[in-house]
Amino acid sequence: MAAARRPRIVVTAGPTREHVDPVRYLSNESSGRMGFAIAASAAARNWDVTLVAGPVQLPTPKGVERIDVISARDMLAAVRDAFRGADALYMSAAVSDWRPKRKLAGKWRKKDGGQQVASLELVSNPDILASVARQKGDRLVVGFALETGDGIRRAKAKMRRKGTDFVVLNDTSALSASRASVTILGADGSVRELTDCTKDRIAEVLLDLAHPA
Ligand code: C5P
Repeated sequence: MAAARRPRIVVTAGPTREHVDPVRYLSNESSGRMGFAIAASAAARNWDVTLVAGPVQLPTPKGVERIDVISARDMLAAVRDAFRGADALYMSAAVSDWRPKRKLAGKWRKKDGGQQVASLELVSNPDILASVARQKGDRLVVGFALETGDGIRRAKAKMRRKGTDFVVLNDTSALSASRASVTILGADGSVRELTDCTKDRIAEVLLDLAHPA
């Protein structure tokens, strides 16, 4: 009997950086831990894993192919490429919604004469998840949502808008922490709550969506 093919997944993790000039950027507090935990758990299952990582201070999990990126546009290109041959995408990166309209070639300097106000023109970044989900066919696509307020309603709307199979709803306590409480919402109407779990445990539950261990 032919051996079953190893599942092949793409995981994104961490923030993106959107440069204003060579030394300044817009970014966020994402640690990348959730995505790295998913990648590590999948590699431990002997799956084929491509981890597309924004700038984070984390070691590459054993057995994982890592592609480092900086901006959302870099991440989009890497994800499109890696997803071509993959079975599932876990989009846990905290992608910057906006980027400066222009990146200055030199340092952004204060004008002489006590300038007190400056403004920065922003343009919206491509939505990686929505764009890749359009080409997913029957492959699994999982998005993440960090919400405050009426999180469930917003996360469900996000899942519909972006065309994902599941959305993992976090609150802000998940940022930079090793434990989190999440709600996994399915496009099929399913709801699963995981309360105060390690990110490793959450990773296992999320991988079971693609292929039970
Ligand atoms: O819209 P929001 O940023 O809350 O959506 C979160 C989900 O969408 C995450 O899975 C994130 O990785 C993804 N996303 C994306 N491209 C963006 C913004 C968010 O893929 N430009």
